[in-house]
Amino acid sequence: MNESVLPQKPQPKMTPGAEHYWQSATEEHFVLPQCEDCSEIFFYPRVWCPKCFSQNLSWYKASGKGKVYSFSVVHQAPFPSYKNDVPYVLAIIALQEGPHMMSNVINCDPQSVLVDMPVSVTFESRGEMKIPQFQPDN
Ligand SMILES: [Zn+2]
Repeated sequence: MNESVLPQKPQPKMTPGAEHYWQSATEEHFVLPQCEDCSEIFFYPRVWCPKCFSQNLSWYKASGKGKVYSFSVVHQAPFPSYKNDVPYVLAIIALQEGPHMMSNVINCDPQSVLVDMPVSVTFESRGEMKIPQFQPDN
C-alpha cells in the first residue's frame, strides 16, 4: 500500500485541562502540569492535582529528558494508518521531572532500544497538531 493513500493517524482527544499541553506541543514546547499548592509535577494533564486535589495549577517547562522505563516492540499495526511504522517502539518514559508517560521511541532501530536508555523529546507532526515522542540521546 502506498504511504500517500494510508488514512491519517488518530488525533489526540482534547480532555479538560489538556488544551495548553497540546497547544504547547504543537509549538514544540514540552510542558507538564504542576500544582501551585504542593509543587507536584504530574502527567497526564487534568484539572486537579492527583496528590492534593488542588485546582491551583500552572505549567512547568519540562526538560524533555527521560529514560526508557519499559517498552514493547509493536509488529502488528493497530490501525491501517500505522502500517508503514511497524515495527515501532511503544514505551513508558520515566521523565526527569518524575512523571511517567506512554510514548513512542522513534528515529532509531527498534532493536537498539533498552531499558534505562536516555531519551529526549521530539515532536511528530500529526495533521494540524504535534505529538511529543522520544528519541535516543546522542
Ligand atoms: Zn497538589
